[in-house]
Amino acid sequence: MQLLSLTIDGFKSFAQKTTIKFKPGMTGIVGPNGSGKSNIIEAIRWVMGEQSAHQLRGDKMADVIFSGSSSRAPLNRALVSITFDNSDHYLASDYTELTITRKLYRNGDSEYLVNDQPVRLKDIVDLFIDSGLGRESFSIISQGRIESIFNGKPLDRRAIIETVAGVAKYKKNKDAAEKKLATTMDNLHRVSDIVSELK
Ligand code: ATP
Repeated sequence: MQLLSLTIDGFKSFAQKTTIKFKPGMTGIVGPNGSGKSNIIEAIRWVMGEQSAHQLRGDKMADVIFSGSSSRAPLNRALVSITFDNSDHYLASDYTELTITRKLYRNGDSEYLVNDQPVRLKDIVDLFIDSGLGRESFSIISQGRIESIFNGKPLDRRAIIETVAGVAKYKKNKDAAEKKLATTMDNLHRVSDIVSELK
């Protein structure tokens, strides 16, 4: 899987439709303070399903829509599209190229599309699950997050390592199974109490 391109249109400081093409290898984005480097990362996070305005440095989701500048009126819609080469089917889809699009209008209407077909947020989340990408993953790490990892308690750091290693999912399943087991044991005890009463 390879990130091919990102199109940002009306998202944060990107009033004008802007397409960034990614070549194989490492890509660095440089620019002066306030030029929109973090906005690019946030666009990627947003199109992959981010639901927290706070994670995108806003109070409400509509804050991601271009809010105007001295030379441009505010816009009514933010759009971000991300395209992956999926010829190795790393992402759980039959498509060899995947374009995921998210749109948000000021009236609150929103849309998710995969290769121009409307889908639900759940479909986007499912697409990225177990891929190491997606809104909950550690593939995108903000400056503040690095600081919190360094200053975190050992147990919190261990939780991060477990998430990255893919262990966290199984731990969650194990916890759920143990809870079920405890409930079943309680039920069994109750049944054996009733049986002894009836004897
Ligand atoms: P630094 O190097 O200081 O971290 P940066 O290059 O990462 O900066 P960003 O934080 O991505 O820059 O961009 C900040 C700019 O985006 C600010 O000028 C801010 O006004 C602008 N901005 C954020 N949200 C919106 C919006 N909804 N509409 C218009 N401009 C916005």
